[in-house]
Amino acid sequence: MPLLHVPTIYVLLLAVMVLLGALTLFAWLQNRAVRALAWWGGAVLVMAAALGLLCLRGVIPDVCSLDLAYAVLFTACALMLEGARCFEGRRTSPLLLLAGAAMWIVTCQIPAMYESATARLIIVSVAMGSYSLGCAYVLWTGRAEPLLSRWPLIVLTALGGGLFLVRIPLHVAHPLAAVPVTRFEALQSFWFAIVSTFTVLFFIAINYLFLALTKERSELAHKRASMTDALTGLANRRAFLEFGERRLKAPANGTIAFLLFDLDLFKSINDTHGHAMGDRVLRVFAQTLSANLPRGGVAGRLGGEEFAAIVSGPDRQAAIAVAERVRESFAAIARVVDGVVIAATVSVGLAHADSAPGGIEALCERADKALYTAKSLGRNRVESAVEELVPLVPDAPADRPIPSAAHARAATKRAAA
Ligand code: GH3
Ligand code: MG
Ligand code: MG
Repeated sequence: MPLLHVPTIYVLLLAVMVLLGALTLFAWLQNRAVRALAWWGGAVLVMAAALGLLCLRGVIPDVCSLDLAYAVLFTACALMLEGARCFEGRRTSPLLLLAGAAMWIVTCQIPAMYESATARLIIVSVAMGSYSLGCAYVLWTGRAEPLLSRWPLIVLTALGGGLFLVRIPLHVAHPLAAVPVTRFEALQSFWFAIVSTFTVLFFIAINYLFLALTKERSELAHKRASMTDALTGLANRRAFLEFGERRLKAPANGTIAFLLFDLDLFKSINDTHGHAMGDRVLRVFAQTLSANLPRGGVAGRLGGEEFAAIVSGPDRQAAIAVAERVRESFAAIARVVDGVVIAATVSVGLAHADSAPGGIEALCERADKALYTAKSLGRNRVESAVEELVPLVPDAPADRPIPSAAHARAATKRAAA
């Protein structure tokens, strides 16, 4: 191939790998909490060193271009595997890191192995195949985390590992002409350069996907944080309303129950026991609410001491039973909190609707009126909206904020005045 200058190809490949490794380490420096990036950046740099040694076969002594080169290569693969383990929250293991290199050094001391090209190929293929498949397996175990880049990464690493292993029977069935290990020309050949190029392209793709994985994870964490109430861990107002809108459009069994909760005389809990105890009571309520919702129910904190839940499918009596269960459980659990008598209670307003398409606002308004009744009848009780299965307001926009219970109560007070 006169148009290609093989040494130039190696220089380019090495430059690409060093750059890639350095950029990955730079990404880690920007976000040191993602330690997997350090493992992966280090892996690429060590891989570049291994490639450099392999390219110099015949130029430098075999002990460097063969014994040391593969020990370094296996260490690079182990670093990559450790990076995947670290990414999935597993403990990294120095034993795993050094096992491949140690095994190779021992193999080099056995003349029968060292001098047999087939034996060397089998050992190298098994080691590389195992590292690659190991990476695929570790990433597979974390598949519950919805990261899109995970899947091409699993496919690539599994494919790479599979190719290394398939190479063994192929080589045994059709051994290549024996090439003396020290023959410089053979290893500097065009084909060796092509194989190296594809290997480097493979690592570029893997490295890119690793970077994409860490970016996706951080975006997912931000998205989750923006939809979660930091104090209670429940859905925040925005997330709850979005979810509620979706539920309203596809209710199970054609009905929806909207439960609006407001802790009773909560201000006096703050005033008497302090804000920290108030926060503690809010968390206790959030746990009680989550624990008492039927399957598929969703709960959220609308703000302050107001919470809401949507339950799909129950008839009116079943929905009232859910609300009563939450109310009773909370009264029992919040009687004493952290050894202090609090006797916190909650009032509940309940609205029930059929499956007519519409917004969550109508339901919330009706639940809010019922909640007002519960407050005015003495608190610590469940009241249900009087209307029966009123169709929801059609085509209400999903992102329109719902009025708070306080607003509705104020409006009711104004109407009564
Ligand atoms: P009612 O039975 O009529 O609902 O009386 P209330 O005292 O519960 O209602 P009010 O609206 O007067 O007081 C709500 C209190 O909730 C006032 C506010 O300081 C407190 N609050 C709101 N958010 C938080 C919070 O995140 N933590 C704590 N500790 N208190 C909060
Ligand atoms: Mg309130
Ligand atoms: Mg209150």
